[in-house]
Amino acid sequence: MILNKFRFLILFMIATTFACSKSDTNTTITTPTTPSTSITDDAVVIEVDPTKFLAAGLTESITKVSQRLADGSTVMCYKIISNNTPSDHTQGPWCPTNINDGIDKGGIWFEAGKLYDVDGPFIKNLATFYSNTTWKLYNSTTGVINVTDTKAACEAAARPNVDPLYKNYCVQCLPSYFPGIKKIYYIPVKPVKSNNTIPIMGMGGVVGIAFNGINFDPPAPTQAILGAYTLAPFDDAGGHVNGATGYHYHAATGKSTKIKQTDAHAAMIGYAMDGYGLFENLDEAGKESTDLDASRGHYDSIRGYHYHVANAGSNSFINSFRGVPGSFSVTL
Ligand SMILES: [Zn+2]
Ligand SMILES: [Zn+2]
Repeated sequence: MILNKFRFLILFMIATTFACSKSDTNTTITTPTTPSTSITDDAVVIEVDPTKFLAAGLTESITKVSQRLADGSTVMCYKIISNNTPSDHTQGPWCPTNINDGIDKGGIWFEAGKLYDVDGPFIKNLATFYSNTTWKLYNSTTGVINVTDTKAACEAAARPNVDPLYKNYCVQCLPSYFPGIKKIYYIPVKPVKSNNTIPIMGMGGVVGIAFNGINFDPPAPTQAILGAYTLAPFDDAGGHVNGATGYHYHAATGKSTKIKQTDAHAAMIGYAMDGYGLFENLDEAGKESTDLDASRGHYDSIRGYHYHVANAGSNSFINSFRGVPGSFSVTL
């Protein structure tokens, strides 16, 4: 048992290491290679503020350590160890259990840039929604929805090549299946602009960290999920659970802790792995910035360079890193 856990950890660390290499193209979104901002955009560089993180989400105090980054440079990083339990909102629900269930019994799903509530009627309507009669996640007589209800079932249904047994299932892994997860983030104290933007990686790489210690993940592999006639909903906070990284976000829906700005600018929701700030999609007037670069960032003299995440239905947060990212690992 311990050996198995150890083996998993090693495998995961290998996956994470690969995620730092530029040769991994799995779920890479964009790979712009031209420097997109001028030197004046670094007149003000804002350091990561470790006091912004919620203490309840940390297993120990944040420390400063010297760390080698993916580009070979060695810089001071904050070492942040998260207990993977959001202290500022509940987790779930994900899958409704009956086609008559209301929106309070299920989470959300996105398609073509839009968010949908996953309630009973949504599940019932999937064949129409996806224009494919193979979709049928429920029993016509009882209305009961097929939901993975054990750790083994959720892992078999959530793996990239979905077990055929779980075709036409609503997939949910419960946080209780993966107790004691720790997530270790190394984030540069002071972001350092990379010569070229760096792609967002899949397979263990993460986009950033919310103030509650939960990771903003690369895009969910929706084609693999839908290809198996499964649905893996997110809860109303945009998160769900898998065996590789526990609870994680695929959308910023405004439920995790955010820091309001004094100038009507969009609120701050966390940090990207390169140390630049992550802010909501819309400002207080409900407007999206129009001058974002290809990474989804821009500069102002209050916040320095920072990102605005994509809207919650887009299955991504930012498109690439402007700075050199730190690293991330999980222990189960
Ligand atoms: Zn996911
Ligand atoms: Zn901004």
